[in-house]
Amino acid sequence: MSANCLFCKIAAKQIPSKIVYEDPDLFAFEDISPQAPTHILLCPRKHFESLTDASPEDQAILGKLQLVASQLARERNLLEGYRTVLNNGPGAGQSVFHLHLHLLGGRPFRWPPG
Ligand code: 5GP
Ligand code: ZN
Repeated sequence: MSANCLFCKIAAKQIPSKIVYEDPDLFAFEDISPQAPTHILLCPRKHFESLTDASPEDQAILGKLQLVASQLARERNLLEGYRTVLNNGPGAGQSVFHLHLHLLGGRPFRWPPG
């Protein structure tokens, strides 16, 4: 756990959130400011800031984040499509510096993203 990290505090349940999935490797919770009817954030329990800071030992958790996102999408019947998004760095819109995968669904999405 990293001191003063919002998502580490959510993992430790020091800050309340609506957790929708957790296991020894990762936790997932509803975004406080949803940008779609389904908007879930999936985080590794291990604190690292972004993909830029990931190392080869993080290969399994990076894959697992996507697979759990796909499982949650199936459970929520996001049959028309859904999006997984990983913002890396302030220029890409990252505002919380504990790596997290957004799962968005339940509405149409445009391309390219903004
Ligand atoms: P980023 O902009 O870093 O890719 O995504 C950070 C996300 O965290 C945003 O979508 C924002 O709404 C969400 N967020 C920020 N603070 C909180 C919080 O205290 N609780 C929850 N559940 N989500 C948060
Ligand atoms: Zn953290």
